[in-house]
Amino acid sequence: MPTNKPILIVGAGPVGLAAAHRLRWHGCGVRIIDPQAGPTALSKALVVWQRTLETLDSSLPHERFQQHKDAQILQGAIVQTAQETIGKIVLNQPGSPIPTGLLLPQSATEATLIERLREQGVEVERKTSLGDFRNDADGITCQIHSEAEGDSEAHFLWMIGADGAHSRVRHGLHLDFPGASIERRWILGDFEIDQDFDPQFIQACLSRDGIVALFPAGRRRWRIIVDGGTPGPEASSGPPTETEIQNLLDTRTSTGWTIRESFWLSEFFINERIVDNYRHGRILLAGDAAHVHSPAGGQGMNTGIQDAVNLAWKLALVTRGEAHPRLLDSYHEERHPIGARVVENSSRMIHLAMLRSPVLQRIRTLLLRHLLRTDWVAPRLRPFLSETDIHYRRTSLAQGTKGAAGLQPGDRLPNLQEAGKPIYEKLRHPGATLLIAGPKKEDWSSRLGGSELARSIIPMEIQPQGLLARTLGIQSGQAVLVRPDTYIGTFARKSGDLRPWIEMMGG
Ligand SMILES: Cc1cc2nc3c(=O)[nH]c(=O)nc-3n(C[C@H](O)[C@H](O)[C@H](O)COP(=O)(O)OP(=O)(O)OC[C@H]3O[C@@H](n4cnc5c(N)ncnc54)[C@H](O)[C@@H]3O)c2cc1C
Repeated sequence: MPTNKPILIVGAGPVGLAAAHRLRWHGCGVRIIDPQAGPTALSKALVVWQRTLETLDSSLPHERFQQHKDAQILQGAIVQTAQETIGKIVLNQPGSPIPTGLLLPQSATEATLIERLREQGVEVERKTSLGDFRNDADGITCQIHSEAEGDSEAHFLWMIGADGAHSRVRHGLHLDFPGASIERRWILGDFEIDQDFDPQFIQACLSRDGIVALFPAGRRRWRIIVDGGTPGPEASSGPPTETEIQNLLDTRTSTGWTIRESFWLSEFFINERIVDNYRHGRILLAGDAAHVHSPAGGQGMNTGIQDAVNLAWKLALVTRGEAHPRLLDSYHEERHPIGARVVENSSRMIHLAMLRSPVLQRIRTLLLRHLLRTDWVAPRLRPFLSETDIHYRRTSLAQGTKGAAGLQPGDRLPNLQEAGKPIYEKLRHPGATLLIAGPKKEDWSSRLGGSELARSIIPMEIQPQGLLARTLGIQSGQAVLVRPDTYIGTFARKSGDLRPWIEMMGG
C-alpha cells in the first residue's frame, strides 16, 4: 500500500541527515530527531571521499561542499620518521571532475547537509530522543521524549537507526555488536599551529614510540592524533594537555611545529564491530549504529553516508508501493560486505601503525621507503580510500548480461565526459536513468511497462562514439540503466532486456 506517513530517522549525525535529505529528495515524508541542542561543533571526520560526493551529487552537488570556506582539496599524504621524510603519496588527480578527497571538518559537512535539508522544508527536531519502541509486523510504536513537549507515543511504518555507536535502536532490538576492542589509548586535539606546511597534505610520523598523524582541519588548524600507548598503571588517561601534545610533537616528529592555541583535546579507544544484519523488519540500521572501527583511512562517516544513499531510494520505492519490501533486503546484502571490508581494512591499517617491535618497525620503514619510490602505491590506494572501487557485483540486483567493455551490473558508473560535461552533472534528478546510445532504434519509454517504477525511469540519449558509450561497451541503440545511487543496474540491447530488472524490484 502506498503511504505518505513519515519515516522516522533516529539521530541527526551525518548519516541521519543524509538519510533524511535523500528520502525527501525521493519524495518521502520524514521526521528526524536528536537529543542534542545543535549539530556537532567538532571536526571529527575530516575527509569527504570522492564516492560520497558522487553518490550525493544528484541532490547535493559536490560544488556545495567544495565552496565551503574551510574546504580544501586533499592532495595526498607524506610519510616520515622522527628524523626524515620517507616518501609522498599523491592522491588527487588533476582534471578529475570530483576530487579524490575533500578536506572538510565534520561540523561543516553536517552544516551543508542541514542547509540542504532546510531548503527541502525539513528541520531536525532537537532535544528530542527515542526511548522504548515496539517493532511489530505492521509498524513501530515509539516512545519519543521531547524537552519542549514531554513524552509522546507515535507510530511509524519505517524507522532508520542512525543514532551512532551507542545506538538506542540497536540496543532496543537486543542486537549483538560482535567484534573487538583495541587496548590502546589514542589522544587527539585540534590546534592552531605556527608553521608553513602545505595544508593539503596529511602527514604520518612513524616514531619508535608510536605514530603521530597530522591532518589539515580548516583555516590554519591542524588535527593531531597520537598513539598514547597501552592503558595501564603507568599510562596517563583522560584528555591530554596542550603541553603533552607539544612534547609529543617535539620528540616524535621532525616538524618543529609550535602549538599556538588548542580548540579540542580528547582521548578515544577503538572498537571494531559490525552488526550481523542491517535490516530488522521495518527497522534499518545505518552508519556507526551498524559498524564502528578505527579512524585509520577515514572511512566511518563516508561509509555511513553511502549506506544512507543506498537505502533511501529503495525505501522510497517501497513506501510509494512501487517496489516489494523485499527490495530492502538488498540494502543489507549490498552494504554489509562494504561495512565488513571497512572494519577489516581499517583494522589492518591501525595495527600496522601500532607496531612496537623495533625489528618490525624497521621492516615497515624499509618497505614503505621502497614502495613510496615506485608508482605502485597511489593507483591502488586511491580507489580504495576514495571508495570508488565499491561495487555490488554478483548480488541480487546485479543480474543480466555484462557490458561488452568489461563493466558489469553493480559497478559504479564512471563519471566521464559526455557532450562536454561530466555525466554526473546530467543525472541531477531523483529517479533512475536509462542511458541510450543514440540514435534510439525503438521507443524505450512506452515499452518498459506501465508500473510507476518503469514510468519514473528517465531516458537520456548519449553519443554512440563518445567516451562514455565506449567505456560502457554499448553501441547505437543499446542502453544502460543507472540506479539513483549511480551504480549500473543492468545492460540492455533492447527494451525487453530491462523487464527482468524492473520485475525483480517488484515494479
Ligand atoms: C576523532 C575522530 C576522527 C574521525 N575521523 C574520521 C574520518 O576522517 N573520516 C570518517 O569518515 N569518519 C571519521 N570518524 C568517524 C565519524 O565521526 C563517524 O563515523 C560519524 O560521525 C558517524 O555518523 P553517524 O551519523 O552514524 O553517527 P553520529 O555522528 O554519532 O550521530 C548519531 C546521532 O544520534 C543521536 N542520538 C543518539 N541517541 C539518540 C536517541 N535515543 N534518539 C535520537 N537521536 C539519538 C546523537 O545525538 C547523534 O547526533 C572520526 C571519528 C572520530 C571520533
